[in-house]
Amino acid sequence: MGLLEFQSRFPEDRECYEYLKKIRFPREFLCPRCGSSASGSIITRDLWQCKGCRAQVSVTARTMFHRTRTSLRHWFWTIFLVAKDKRGHSALQLSKELNIPYNRAWLMLHKIRAAMAYRDKLYQLDGTVEMDEAYFGAPDPGRKGRSTRRVKALVAIGLTEDNRPRFIKIQTIKRLDARCVKGFAISQIAQNSTIRTDGLHVYRCLANLSFSHDATVASGKAKGDLLHWVHIIVSNAKTFVTGTFHGLGEKHIQRYLDEFCYRFNRRHREAELFDRLLLACATALPITYDELT
Ligand SMILES: [Zn+2]
Repeated sequence: MGLLEFQSRFPEDRECYEYLKKIRFPREFLCPRCGSSASGSIITRDLWQCKGCRAQVSVTARTMFHRTRTSLRHWFWTIFLVAKDKRGHSALQLSKELNIPYNRAWLMLHKIRAAMAYRDKLYQLDGTVEMDEAYFGAPDPGRKGRSTRRVKALVAIGLTEDNRPRFIKIQTIKRLDARCVKGFAISQIAQNSTIRTDGLHVYRCLANLSFSHDATVASGKAKGDLLHWVHIIVSNAKTFVTGTFHGLGEKHIQRYLDEFCYRFNRRHREAELFDRLLLACATALPITYDELT
């Protein structure tokens, strides 16, 4: 969908409400309170009365669009622009495009990133998974390797049978220790998967969990070939994070990494991205400014 087509499909809030209704309740109305599908009378275009529990349910209830100062049409435009721009969309760009204050644009984009993260948390990697650590943020001269003050993260990539990447996960961590490695692996990788790592001591704990651990000690060129995909994806993630969001606060780096992963995991479904993102925003738990900052 191009800009002109988008503009003519969603000229006013009304068209956005109708579309959101279709995305949220594709078959029939389902009461989020009692689960009844006995849809009562539609009071306004945005409000049903449930016949089961008499609750009045709006199409935006329990979505991040509910009772925000931003019109649904502005949300639609934001999601459309984010879905369209592979390199990611900055708050400065968005505030100019929609003529809204920078802070509001920033908040909307972070809410969308939170919805992306919420969506990806529903899935675990499985099969053969490459795992490694990575460092993000400005260089920290004088401190090498794991003593760096840069943001540390664990990266995992689920591979296809012919050793190509399928899905990825990136999680920032406070320090690289066995507790973080275990927590990351248990939450992000399905039991009985095979996890490939380098020979670093901290990964040995994986063998004690319900994974099969394939650790390879390598040096020189062999080290570069080992965990081939992790290295490529980390380098792309760094470009994404620093390219669009110059000098971003390290505090929010996880959200940018969440966006990177969400996009990567749906790279073959670009045409559906607007609908998928809209659904993600309609189903993720609403998040407040305080929770974001
Ligand atoms: Zn109900």
